[in-house]
Amino acid sequence: MGGCASKLVADEIHKTYRIQKGDTLSELAEKHGTTASAIRKANGLKNDRIIAGQRLLIPVKPRGVEDFESVTRALRVPRDRWKFVVAHHSATPNGNAAIYGRNHYRRGMRDGLAYHFVIGNGIDSGDGEIEVGPRWRKQLRGGHVKSPIYNQYGIGICFVGNFMKTRPTDNQISSFHRLMETLASDVLGTNYSFTVHKLIRGEQTACPGRYFPTDALLSKYTS
Ligand SMILES: [Zn+2]
Repeated sequence: MGGCASKLVADEIHKTYRIQKGDTLSELAEKHGTTASAIRKANGLKNDRIIAGQRLLIPVKPRGVEDFESVTRALRVPRDRWKFVVAHHSATPNGNAAIYGRNHYRRGMRDGLAYHFVIGNGIDSGDGEIEVGPRWRKQLRGGHVKSPIYNQYGIGICFVGNFMKTRPTDNQISSFHRLMETLASDVLGTNYSFTVHKLIRGEQTACPGRYFPTDALLSKYTS
């Protein structure tokens, strides 16, 4: 799965559209918030001719990324609020923020989704889509680890997938880098530390799994 992941990068997510009679490329572009040339490029078209009944790939901005950035900027989070970033996997092949949120709520977490962010794998949310959890919007502590300190001061990021069996997709990893970039520029102080669930003392878990690129990310995000 990981090895043959799509080559699309996080800002080139597409949806499929079936061309209707009378559609023109420029109208479609306007309706979907993109440009005719972006649609041509996504579909390898040489000109603006489209044929009713055919399917078109329409480029869409990964809504989660944009959402995250604007939500976070508006929150004006104090730089000393968060000291850790903790990566997790869902340990399930699929899922999204709403699905995990309901689950966590049923397990007694009144604030719902235990993570602050969920990065989708293309099944129940976009491949590389970053979903913002309610705890991030309200700047509440997480419920993603046992350690009270890491819940209080740690930003929990969950990658959808079971990385005991598969690898994260390329889009998930590049979205994670974008998320980290924005967190570093708008939220985190200079002394934050990045870690993964299993490396927190006393957690007794394999999360985020043996195929998660723990070493590579640790070396990139360890100051
Ligand atoms: Zn975990």
